[in-house]
Amino acid sequence: MPAAEIVGGGIAGLVASIQLARNGWSVRLHERSEALRAGGNGLPIFENGLRILEALGLQDAIRTRGHQLNKWIIRLSSGQTTTEYEPFAATGGRIVMFERQALVDPLAEAAVKAGVKIEVGSRVLSAERDGILHLSGGRRLESDLIVGADGIHSIVRKSVAGTLPLGKHRKGAIRLLIPIRPDDFPDGNDRVATEYNDPGGRRIGLLPCSSKTMYMILVALLSDPQALKMPIDPELWKATFPTLGRFIDRVGPAGHYDEYHSIFPPTWHFGKCVLIGDAAHGMTPALGQGANSAMMTAYSLGATDLLSSPLSDALTAWETKIRPLVHFTQKFAEGITEGRLDPRNDIFFSDPALRPLLSADIPNMRFDMPNFAALNPPLSNAV
Ligand SMILES: Cc1cc2nc3c(=O)[nH]c(=O)nc-3n(C[C@H](O)[C@H](O)[C@H](O)COP(=O)(O)OP(=O)(O)OC[C@H]3O[C@@H](n4cnc5c(N)ncnc54)[C@H](O)[C@@H]3O)c2cc1C
Repeated sequence: MPAAEIVGGGIAGLVASIQLARNGWSVRLHERSEALRAGGNGLPIFENGLRILEALGLQDAIRTRGHQLNKWIIRLSSGQTTTEYEPFAATGGRIVMFERQALVDPLAEAAVKAGVKIEVGSRVLSAERDGILHLSGGRRLESDLIVGADGIHSIVRKSVAGTLPLGKHRKGAIRLLIPIRPDDFPDGNDRVATEYNDPGGRRIGLLPCSSKTMYMILVALLSDPQALKMPIDPELWKATFPTLGRFIDRVGPAGHYDEYHSIFPPTWHFGKCVLIGDAAHGMTPALGQGANSAMMTAYSLGATDLLSSPLSDALTAWETKIRPLVHFTQKFAEGITEGRLDPRNDIFFSDPALRPLLSADIPNMRFDMPNFAALNPPLSNAV
């Protein structure tokens, strides 16, 4: 039986592990943390990601742990509404909110059921292109395939591809979960996401993950460091968003701060090592597609026949097929983050150029090729 070592127990590592195990691989997954912890924030899963969860047999998790949105409202910082969408009617695609842990848990259960051995507290120190993995404690493992699913600062990528420049972008975000109070949704519809935008670059998103918990994201430009200070300065945020005081007061010392990064390695595979998820294609979160795209590369890798032709040929064919779509997504998200593309495309996929992504049927590897030239300014297809 071929053996795969997966580095990283995030969404990408878990999805790839399930598919590889189901396709006849002996799979071991290494997570450096002491548990598969997903951090206290939320995640919108779009139609492309939902189709993958369904193909993994996780329909119940979508139904019982997810929270499908039926409306998305965009407001100015004053509270005035500028746009309202019904995501499904507007784009033909669902948006289902999850608390991150509520997504990681069923993926981990499915992985164990598929026979994946999950080792927590297992830190990978380096990888070699010929399939050798070095772990803390002096452990050395040999395998037929190493999957680097270890995030934007991937140690697997650094080991096999050297230090590559990380794309730095002009924004940062503080993310957390807050409790929902009875008067948060006066009309009783608690499936409404609302975002508030200030012309100075500050932004607050409020996205319910259930009838009890709301995902809150506070975004600002890096040139606005007071706004990105942790713990947040509630008075500063209230001064910008005067109608949101009751939500800002729930933040307290909570929240996790991240800057936006992207990465474009020259190739996603090096000998017996392959990169997926943020390790391969970290992107800015403007389209909410980082984790959704991580599922696309993870699932498609795990579903690829890696055994009946030389590994490098199979990996090249896989990358050639899936990478243009993911690259398009990275470039589109970056264009929004950097102010080159219309921010109204953010999240709602109102630009028809994004349809190939939204309707991507990754389980069957059916999708249209994105049209890089269709955008103004046009995106480059070059990696
Ligand atoms: C502000 C912000 C908002 C975002 N919003 C969205 C959104 O709305 N929608 C969306 O789809 N995406 C969003 N993303 C992106 C999303 O979080 C990532 O794309 C996604 O988590 C990537 O998953 P991954 O499994 O590739 O990597 P990660 O989630 O980073 O997981 C990597 C795992 O590898 C482990 N690991 C790392 N190094 C080692 C090692 N040496 N040994 C063993 N284990 C290791 C880590 O502990 C971690 O568990 C957002 C990101 C940011 C920063």
